[in-house]
Amino acid sequence: MSTLNQQYEEKVRPCIDLIDSLRSLGVEEDLALPAIAVIGDQSSGKSSVLEALSGVALPRGTGIVTRCPLELKMKRNKEGETWYGKISYQSYNEEIKNPADVEEKIREAQVKITGDDQGISEDSISLEIASPDVPDLTLIDLPGIVRVAVKNQPVNIGDQIKRLIQKFITKQETICLVVVPSNVDIATTEALKMAQEVDPIGERTLGILTKPDLVDKGTEDMVVKIVRNEEILLRKGYMIVKCRGQNEIKNNVSLSESIEREKAFFKEHSYFQTLYDEGQATVPKLAEKLTLELVHHIQKSLPRLEEQIEKNLAQTQTQLYKYGNGAPCDTSERLAFLIDTVAAFTQDAISLTTGEELKCGFRSCLFFMLRKEFGAWKDTIERSGVTFNWNIEREVAQYEQRYRGRELPGFINYKTFEAIVQEHIKKLEEPAILKLKEVAETVKKELFKLVQRSFVGFPNLIKMAQINIEAIRKEKEIVADSMLRTQFKMEQIVYTQDSTYSKKIGKRKREDDQVLLSSNKIVMKNTGDTRTTLKEMMIHLKSYYQIVGQRLADQIPLVIRYQMLQESTIELRRQMLHMLQDKEKIEPLLQESTEIKSERIHYQKRHKRLSKARIRLTEFSMNI
Ligand code: GDP
Ligand code: MG
Repeated sequence: MSTLNQQYEEKVRPCIDLIDSLRSLGVEEDLALPAIAVIGDQSSGKSSVLEALSGVALPRGTGIVTRCPLELKMKRNKEGETWYGKISYQSYNEEIKNPADVEEKIREAQVKITGDDQGISEDSISLEIASPDVPDLTLIDLPGIVRVAVKNQPVNIGDQIKRLIQKFITKQETICLVVVPSNVDIATTEALKMAQEVDPIGERTLGILTKPDLVDKGTEDMVVKIVRNEEILLRKGYMIVKCRGQNEIKNNVSLSESIEREKAFFKEHSYFQTLYDEGQATVPKLAEKLTLELVHHIQKSLPRLEEQIEKNLAQTQTQLYKYGNGAPCDTSERLAFLIDTVAAFTQDAISLTTGEELKCGFRSCLFFMLRKEFGAWKDTIERSGVTFNWNIEREVAQYEQRYRGRELPGFINYKTFEAIVQEHIKKLEEPAILKLKEVAETVKKELFKLVQRSFVGFPNLIKMAQINIEAIRKEKEIVADSMLRTQFKMEQIVYTQDSTYSKKIGKRKREDDQVLLSSNKIVMKNTGDTRTTLKEMMIHLKSYYQIVGQRLADQIPLVIRYQMLQESTIELRRQMLHMLQDKEKIEPLLQESTEIKSERIHYQKRHKRLSKARIRLTEFSMNI
């Protein structure tokens, strides 16, 4: 006995304490902890087994008595220490002084959680018991599996219960205790089927046979075979127990007395005696086995637990990153914090508009979008050039009529050339202004995104920054608009360097001759022909348009970038820093959004408990 005790103190206790301490940190919210869930068909004896293990009476009776998961956390304290109980559910906590009150408190809790009807709920009730007479164990009692609903029950109650049970037993961390009466055919029980579905090789399933006193005459052999694992193989094997029957309860047989009766029953039983001798019968043996199983299971689960903690911590970190750290409480630190935050933002705004990487981690595709927008602008110019070519014949004829002076036909008229060029370039003015508006909008949107990211949780700061950005956009857009219009006014002057023009025109002529030659047409160099004049004119127009097109393809984006990106962000920095000079505004700017604040606190807490859990786990691993 002393060796068992020693072993217990050295191995069992630390393991269970570890899981208990993790549970008390609240990490159950984040990860699955090793546990034992009790499942069985209705009236198979689940609650009776739990009662016998815990030493306290639990609600029972006909119908669905267990209507919510009940976590029974048992803790063995030292001999002589007093009994302690505590019930908690939802946000309610209550200490229980007397073991006899437990049953009533659970009933009360169930009614509070599920209401007075016969429905069930997934909300757990947690019952903690410390006593020298209980094993160190945590068990979860689940509603019994029913097949048909009775009056007042939802018709799909059976499915609801099965879903609830599945939720618990699918977790790898859960050992399934399948409770089956000895007087039914075990193979047909729903509970065993469900356990087999989630644990096909029976690795984490343990069978408990109940009501051995009710076994049908002649079937005892079969029961013995099952318990010996010779029928339906479960790696964790079987145990057989006898609890209080209806009569014994009526006759007020106490739980401790019932343990004595159980022992006597097995010792004297002609068939089950051997099971007793082999250590596979009685509640105390079951308690012992379960404790050892749980410890073994905990040890096996540790690596996975560690993994889960790491994964959760990483996720929490990402969330925390998203929600920022919030403002410090200290008044003097608050100003520094505000200045730092705003400075970081303006720096990032500048980086954003110069296409550099941002400190806050926000990945902007602003330059990708700008390239697309400006590319489209170039296309606009080119497309306008094409339509220009199509209409040119008609236009030249028109202009000839309108502008030709005293010269005879066939002479190239410079004024006609100029007029056509001017009018065509003017057609690009409105598209250029439109482009300005589009880009301004794109830049604004990206800056707004940056604002959201930089000032997470500070709605006033976000609002102020957005107001500034919007005002600056308007102001700079007016300036850029006027610059663009000036550019188009200047473009009314038909000008390029002589050498540029000569080169262009020479190239174009060579290209045109090439086209004619390759199409085997005879080149007529008759200068008096109107058609030839027209052709000459076309070469001039196209050449000049190409030069202007190239100029505008660069110039318009340059103006837009200069005003809407460069100048705007410099102005933004000025305005934002200016805003900080007003001491009155500091507090309003730092006002936090309650929603984000609570999210942040939630994740901070989670981070804290997971970090603690990690430390405890590491310490534990180092000690064994
Ligand atoms: P649950 O619905 O699975 O929780 O089953 P209960 O624990 O409420 O038990 C159902 C009925 O079986 C109750 O009347 C118990 O008194 C009775 N019962 C439980 N275990 C035994 C046992 O070992 N022998 C006898 N005779 N009756 C038992
Ligand atoms: Mg029950």
